[in-house]
Amino acid sequence: MSLEEEFSRLGLEVVSNTEKYREDFTHYPVEPRIVVKAKSTEEVVSALTLARKHKLSLTPWGGGSSLGGVLWNKGGVVVDVSPMKRIIEFDDVNWVVHVEAGVVLDDLNRFLSQRGFFFPPDPASSFVCTVGGAVVQGSGGMRCVKYGTMRDWVLALKVVLPDGSIVKLGEPLLKNRAGYDLVRLMVGSEGTLGVVVEAWLKVIPLPRYKLTRLLAFFHDEAHIAEAILELRRHRIQPELAEYMDQRVLEALRTHFNLPVEGVGALLLDLAEFDLEEAKSVLSKAKIRIAQTEEEKEEFYRARAFGGVAVSALSKNYMVEDVVVPISRLPDLVSMIRKLEEKYGLLAPTQGHIGDGNLHPEILFDDSQREKAQRFYQELCEYVISIGGSITGEHGVGLQKKELLKRQLKEHNGAPVIELMKKIREVFDPEHLLNPGKYIE
Ligand SMILES: Cc1cc2nc3c(=O)[nH]c(=O)nc-3n(C[C@H](O)[C@H](O)[C@H](O)COP(=O)(O)OP(=O)(O)OC[C@H]3O[C@@H](n4cnc5c(N)ncnc54)[C@H](O)[C@@H]3O)c2cc1C
Repeated sequence: MSLEEEFSRLGLEVVSNTEKYREDFTHYPVEPRIVVKAKSTEEVVSALTLARKHKLSLTPWGGGSSLGGVLWNKGGVVVDVSPMKRIIEFDDVNWVVHVEAGVVLDDLNRFLSQRGFFFPPDPASSFVCTVGGAVVQGSGGMRCVKYGTMRDWVLALKVVLPDGSIVKLGEPLLKNRAGYDLVRLMVGSEGTLGVVVEAWLKVIPLPRYKLTRLLAFFHDEAHIAEAILELRRHRIQPELAEYMDQRVLEALRTHFNLPVEGVGALLLDLAEFDLEEAKSVLSKAKIRIAQTEEEKEEFYRARAFGGVAVSALSKNYMVEDVVVPISRLPDLVSMIRKLEEKYGLLAPTQGHIGDGNLHPEILFDDSQREKAQRFYQELCEYVISIGGSITGEHGVGLQKKELLKRQLKEHNGAPVIELMKKIREVFDPEHLLNPGKYIE
């Protein structure tokens, strides 16, 4: 019996048109032997059992929006879990929502907003990325400056382990000190420890106070990161604090016809009680306040689609995800500019500046690939040297696996790398799930 027939017999849909599964957003190839869709936990178990029987690697697939070779697979099985999209239960007393792994984050928030609630982590890919993908990527987003990332919002998980057993990790409780925190271990594990099939997520009511959304346009780039530091010295907590440099603004003007100006901008959401003080901190900027709900949405979408607008400028790009202590943001911005000059490449930069997390997007043509690689390597090494991290939210995948080891060695010591490898062995001794990436 062919492999396709074996999967079909177990109820899994074998995908015949595999076009959308052939690369990730950063053009890393995905070359599976077979792509199947799972509709239930039982089908995920079957997929793992068959993959193990045939000694094939297995890569779960959610929205397919991850970057940097996180989805890379060669000759194995891709299991698309996006059909598992049930919102199983919403509890407006315990403020918990129980969902299947394939639920898309925007769909979840549409469901919750009708009930006066929301789930804060909001990757710019929330229109496509799934709960399962966001959990194992430990994803962040724009609201994380106030609310934190996925790791702060996942209470419990149902997971299929590589040996096919089903476990529930954690409890849908706001407090729980029973045992090692295996939920947090799963968050950010990049699909190397198990397949998430269900999640219990913490949710909160939509804010009742008024939030003002504004764009602050600057005419001196040095003032932008400084403004963030100053807001913090004033103990002002924005609910959004996003950065777009001049090239991102230009890309947005072209693609979204947005009236932008200056050499860079901050997108901020401020509570009414912080607004006047924040305006005085931003005195060097020209401020444009969103007047209507539509305009608020337009500002938000512009930043969310900034990456897509920049990617359209070049056939090749590397989306970086460096994060530094907030006090070192001015150094990070000036290092990006120095490297642009050194390598003769452009790196339009945007990102979650309020968290110290920026996404320079290094643009290059085919003849400049090696230069781009050195640019990215030097930037990451610099970030490690100032106490930052090579990834704030996108993860490691294939692209950053050597740099991950370097960072861990310098910041945490070599034994930590060994400890992580042993954890992988405990969950997946046969290296079935997403092998060759991350900590391997
Ligand atoms: C335009 C754009 C904007 C983005 N903006 C952000 C951002 O603001 N913040 C941010 O953090 N990220 C961002 N990302 C990165 C990406 O969208 C996130 O990492 C996202 O959470 C991935 O979810 P996904 O469902 O697409 O996962 P996929 O890409 O399908 O999978 C990612 C990894 O998770 C594994 N996986 C998927 N589902 C499961 C599961 N159920 N169980 C176990 N493993 C699983 C896969 O094998 C793979 O290793 C962006 C990406 C794009 C393209």
